[in-house]
Amino acid sequence: MPNKSVELSAPAKVNYRLDVLSKRPDGYHDLRMIMQRVDLCDTIRINLTGSTGITVTCNRNSVPDGPENIAWRAAKAVLDLSQKPVGVAIDIDKKIPVAAGLGGGSSDAATVLMGLNNLLELGLSTEQLMEIGVTLGADVPFFIFGDTSIAEGIGEKLTRIEKIPRPWIVLVNPNVHVSTAWVYKNLQLTIGKDVNTMPNFFDNIAELCAVLGNDLESVTISRFPVIRDIKNLLIQYGAAASLMSGSGPTVFGIFEDEAAAREAAKKIATEHNWFTAAVKTL
Ligand code: ATP
Repeated sequence: MPNKSVELSAPAKVNYRLDVLSKRPDGYHDLRMIMQRVDLCDTIRINLTGSTGITVTCNRNSVPDGPENIAWRAAKAVLDLSQKPVGVAIDIDKKIPVAAGLGGGSSDAATVLMGLNNLLELGLSTEQLMEIGVTLGADVPFFIFGDTSIAEGIGEKLTRIEKIPRPWIVLVNPNVHVSTAWVYKNLQLTIGKDVNTMPNFFDNIAELCAVLGNDLESVTISRFPVIRDIKNLLIQYGAAASLMSGSGPTVFGIFEDEAAAREAAKKIATEHNWFTAAVKTL
């Protein structure tokens, strides 16, 4: 069994929509989100080793390497379940900005769960992996599910979107780290919020842009007003719409085609010292 290995891509996500519906007694919030994977990926290498134990290495200093790393906890959950006498060495080549609202840690964890399920030939179903995933983080089930989805509950109830355009996305991150916990702490919940059903069928980009929204945006903007400037800049450079993703601070712009997205990303990268990328939706 040892010496088996695999190299996998762990994509980022953006939230086309993020509604905070209510605060639950357990401290989590009930959400309704539209989640889309994008082609900005960490590379995860998983090696089975002869000795027991889990190690995580990463090319970024700001990412923890022990049990604080969510990928480590994903490996632990699978090893505890499998009871197989193996060790796991995980190396993360991080390309997704950290604490950015792009779900990087959750995607790494989902990739480790799926990768180890295959390497150890455990035969766990997608549903079983998603159940383990939600114990690690609210966005993990989405990355196991894969398809563009409406996510409800804390993020674990997923419904596939029937039809949706695949625009190009420009991501802009002003290199500040946002604590998701801080954002939720400072959110003023709207009582009696309209929770009409969310469409799960979008014929074109205009229809998609019409539903964009994020309840966390104004909270993060109050701390980092640069987010509003980036939203405006993306529109000025041709985006059909722009929005903050997750708890931020990354902002994304929606573009009809690759050339326009690349051009906008190039201009922004030339003018500002921000992380900028033009990426496909997956
Ligand atoms: P969330 O909204 O779930 O916080 P995010 O996309 O905003 O997600 P992440 O990049 O997942 O943020 O990082 C959140 C925190 O988790 C960081 O402060 C980081 O130190 C820690 N962390 C633990 N494991 C990882 C990992 N594999 N990749 C990135 N960050 C990790």
